[in-house]
Amino acid sequence: MAFELPNLPYDQNALEPHISANTLSFHHGKHHQGYVNNLNNLIKGTDLENKSLEEIIKATAGDPSKVAIFNNAAQVWNHTFYWHSMKPNGGGQPTGALAEKIKADFGSFEAFKEQFKAAGVGQFGSGWAWLVLENGTLKVTKTLNAENPLHQNQIPLLTMDVWEHAYYLDYQNRRPDYAQTFLDHLVNWDFAAANFAKATA
Ligand code: ZN
Repeated sequence: MAFELPNLPYDQNALEPHISANTLSFHHGKHHQGYVNNLNNLIKGTDLENKSLEEIIKATAGDPSKVAIFNNAAQVWNHTFYWHSMKPNGGGQPTGALAEKIKADFGSFEAFKEQFKAAGVGQFGSGWAWLVLENGTLKVTKTLNAENPLHQNQIPLLTMDVWEHAYYLDYQNRRPDYAQTFLDHLVNWDFAAANFAKATA
């Protein structure tokens, strides 16, 4: 029961001109695929072999002897979540319950955007920016390398990959431009709203 690379939820060129088909080809086809392959090799013949991705992440988090398994499992999960956090002609603003909650917890949508961008730009080295729900409150967080919120009592609603492989071919060192473009043109508020609805049902 090996893990398989999930298809992108859109064509490789669907996010152009903001993220090129070339970037998605490497990012999905090489990097994401690489994490899937590594994970399958690492869990082969172990008691983790028949567990779900979420179970593997929770079972290996914080265990120094299982860092490689955690890193690859979390990166498989994070990337799948990231693909869905974007869509062609994304951006704009959320509506409905999530929009109300963002206003209540951040003060305004603009304040949320500033915090989210700052988290992505301010993550030193590789990592992720997140919108999460923690104990009923929305929060913006950032995580290092493969770290993800699943085992930290947080429910992820949205993520932005800030590893260089996510943006370097299109933006080189200009991570702030990539983060701004993510918010203005790519972010998939339908996905975040669906996650929020599920979490608060
Ligand atoms: Zn990535």
